Order: sequence, then C-alpha cells, then structure tokens
Amino acid sequence: VITLSQLTAWLRRYSDTVTAERQYLTDLDAAIGDADHGSNMSRGMAAAVAKIDEATPESVGAFGKAVGMTLVSTVGGASGPLYGTLFLRFGATGGDATELDAAALAAALRAGVDGVIARGKAEAGDKTMLDALLPAVAELEGAAASGAGLAEAAAAAAAAAEAGRDATAPLVAHKGRASYLGERSAGHIDPGAASSALLLRALADELA
Ligand code: ADP
Ligand code: MG
Ligand code: MG
Repeated sequence: VITLSQLTAWLRRYSDTVTAERQYLTDLDAAIGDADHGSNMSRGMAAAVAKIDEATPESVGAFGKAVGMTLVSTVGGASGPLYGTLFLRFGATGGDATELDAAALAAALRAGVDGVIARGKAEAGDKTMLDALLPAVAELEGAAASGAGLAEAAAAAAAAAEAGRDATAPLVAHKGRASYLGERSAGHIDPGAASSALLLRALADELA
C-alpha cells in the first residue's frame, strides 16, 4: 500500500523536483508557449507543500482537496486548474482512506486524469500532459490487475509516462497555447507532458 505519509512525501519530492527542473520546464515552454511552466509548477507545488505543513491531512480525500485547491488558487496558467483538478478528483476517489493499495491508487489516478480530460477537453495525441498521464494510468491499472507490487507498478507507470512525454515531440498541439503555433509546435516536447512524467517518476522513486 501507499500510506498517507508516503503520499505527502511524494508531494514534497515532486515539489523539490519541479523546483530543481524549473529551468528545463521553462525552456520547453519557451519553445512552444510563454516560458512560465517551470515557475508555475514550482510556485504551485511549494504552496501545496506549505498547505500540507500547515494542517496535516488525515485522509486521502483531505490530502487531494488541500493540494488541488491550492494549485487552482495559486497557479494562474492552464496547468494550475488542470493539476488542481487531478488532485481534487484523486482525493474525492480516495475519500476517507488513509492508505491505498495498487488498485485503489490506480483508480484514484484514473479519476484524476478523467478530471483533466473533463476540464481541458483534450484527448490523447493533442500534445498535452495527457500524453504522459494516460499511458501511465493504463500501465498502473494493468500492473495492479496482474497483482504486481506497488513499487513495480509505479516504476512501470513512470517509464510509460516518460515514453509518452518523448512521443509528444513530433506532434502538432491541438490544445493550450502551443496550439496557436499550429504546425510549428511540432519538434518540441510538451512542457506539461514533461512535468507529468516527473510526477510519476517522483511517485516511483518514493515507492522504490
Ligand atoms: P499556460 O499555457 O497557461 O502558460 P503552463 O505553461 O503552466 O500554462 O502549462 C502548459 C501546459 O498545460 C501544456 O504544456 C499542456 O501540457 C497543458 N495544457 C494546456 N491546455 C491543456 C488542456 N486543454 N488539456 C490538457 N492539458 C493542457
Ligand atoms: Mg506557459
Ligand atoms: Mg502562462
């Protein structure tokens, strides 16, 4: 299982990661957007960690709500409401639970990703964060169904997210700012797919 304290450790690790990778994320966004994805993610995740430190959540639901609402209110860009929705739906699915097994983690992440789809109206291949998130959740579900342990499932999900991130490079963006570039958006990795791959990698590292 993944415990509540491991969930908060995941958030902390992710906050540290996006802060360390801030320039990388911003450089990706400079190529096809407005060069703020690194600062958006770093600021948002630092605020989410601060929120958790202020009042320790006592359920998966409280964790998701605190993180999600903080992201929605502190990040102005597209990524704030989208990652915010992911964590809100993750929490709503986890509910009163204080730990999640592989299947429950997969279900919570699936709900989160469905929330991103409902909110942003993007689909697979639109060159967004979904191109990393969707294969990762599918991998997690498959691993959970086959009885794999959580560490193994998370590692497989992170690898799938990274492959999905890399596969965004040749795509033409159909959603978000990058879509304003049309064909010129091809040839660059999507910044949100990169930050989502880091999210899954942080989870795998936390559970390793
Ligand atoms: P902004 O584009 O407002 O400056 P960010 O730079 O923080 O916001 O985030 C950009 C990322 O958000 C994109 O790389 C893409 O992955 C993601 N994104 C944008 N619009 C959508 C959408 N409609 N659905 C899913 N993801 C999206
Ligand atoms: Mg941007
Ligand atoms: Mg912006």
